[in-house]
Amino acid sequence: MDKARIIDGKAYAEGLRAHLAREVEVLKSAHGLTPGLGVVLVGDDPASQIYVRNKGLQAIEAGMRSFETKLPADASLADVLAAVRAYNADPSVHGFLVQLPLPKHLPEAEVLAAIDPLKDADGIHLINAGRLASGIDGPAPCTPVGCILLIKEARGPDLSGLDAVVIGRSNIVGKPVAQLLLRENCTVTIAHSRSRDLPAICRSKDIVVAAVGQPELVRGDWIKPGATVIDVGVNRLDAPEKGPGKTRLVGDVCFAEALPVAGAITPVPGGVGPMTIACLLRATLIAACRQAGIAPPEI
Ligand code: NAD
Repeated sequence: MDKARIIDGKAYAEGLRAHLAREVEVLKSAHGLTPGLGVVLVGDDPASQIYVRNKGLQAIEAGMRSFETKLPADASLADVLAAVRAYNADPSVHGFLVQLPLPKHLPEAEVLAAIDPLKDADGIHLINAGRLASGIDGPAPCTPVGCILLIKEARGPDLSGLDAVVIGRSNIVGKPVAQLLLRENCTVTIAHSRSRDLPAICRSKDIVVAAVGQPELVRGDWIKPGATVIDVGVNRLDAPEKGPGKTRLVGDVCFAEALPVAGAITPVPGGVGPMTIACLLRATLIAACRQAGIAPPEI
């Protein structure tokens, strides 16, 4: 049997960022508008620091402005809310996010509720979650948007009538991916830790999106031949074969087993991961256009 096409998320994200950079040039020259992306980072979690640094670098590479507000791990709720309100009020910041997870003493819901929904670059505000659930245009979470772009890359723009399963029901990945697939006229099943007979649920689906956080949960014999498999999971495992203390990343799908069965599949790393920041920049550009009363470009 032929092997699946490997969906190169890294290359797709690079192409998207290059496209965004061209659109930013147009906005600057035609309208004097430079999109600005802000990030509020509380504490010194090393993974979050790397992620925030990459966001800043990629924003600047795309010709945007990048803003960062760093607060200490013991920052008070009032400090964090003040940082959020400063971005809400700053006309040069068109989109921003508060890097999660927040230190435990800070109430996440209260912080996220303070973000101006128009500047909510990660589409996480309740108003935007409600808009997405109601099928109304607005910012949507970036990793889910990246999943849809990769599915369309694999299957073409029309997903109408396809059967899809999303494994995972988190507010940041599973639920919004399901809403976006519904918007594309797919028939959508949301599976989760209490679902019965997950292999049988998956076996009839044209699209499988795994967003679980369980290494290689989805096996090759769960996949319908020719299906599109999008692996959102990022799981770090010990890899003593690579040397002492070494680790490797695996997804929620057993890639080696799924490869000979699927039609197209995202690898981990190099699949969904690189799409998140590219989609964050895309959301910032769209937010900048909307705030300036300009029709956003097709991207
Ligand atoms: P989460 O822990 O919030 O949600 C996991 C979901 O999986 C839950 O809804 C749960 O019901 C479901 N689940 C757990 N065990 C299950 C099982 N055995 N069978 C079926 N369903 C099960 O996680 P999340 O924030 O949605 O993230 C999911 C994965 O995606 C993680 O590995 C995370 O690291 C990754 N992730 C990647 C990106 C990216 O690539 N940019 C972004 C966000 C999350």
